[in-house]
Amino acid sequence: MSECIFCKILNKEIPSEIVFENDEVLAFNDVNPQAPTHILIIPKKHISSFSDFSEEDMGSILPKVFLAVKYITEKLDLKKEGYRIVNNCGKNGGQTVGHIHFHLLAGRQLQWPPG
Ligand code: 5GP
Ligand code: ZN
Repeated sequence: MSECIFCKILNKEIPSEIVFENDEVLAFNDVNPQAPTHILIIPKKHISSFSDFSEEDMGSILPKVFLAVKYITEKLDLKKEGYRIVNNCGKNGGQTVGHIHFHLLAGRQLQWPPG
């Protein structure tokens, strides 16, 4: 996926502030943070959106993504104050980058409902 901005980030063609990395997952700081902590967590396999997950990939990749959330929230000591995990999917979901990603937001009181 040569034109995908997040594939370029995981191939280190575009610099990013990496927070966590293993064979399946990369997490890096959002370039336009909406909270004191705003991290994007992506599978290294290019999947366009949540709707594009195959059942097989969902079973194997999604747990790795959420395991990364667990590691990161423990490492950054976010568990006590809390945090939010967000996936924007498609047009109405507000997705702007076509490589599935989960936002991890923390460090301030987040409002509900989202806009
Ligand atoms: P979405 O709107 O698709 O859910 O979220 C895309 C996110 O990617 C946005 O929060 C945006 O700030 C972030 N983003 C877009 N381009 C880049 C980039 O080149 N580097 C980083 N670190 N974040 C990016
Ligand atoms: Zn991609």
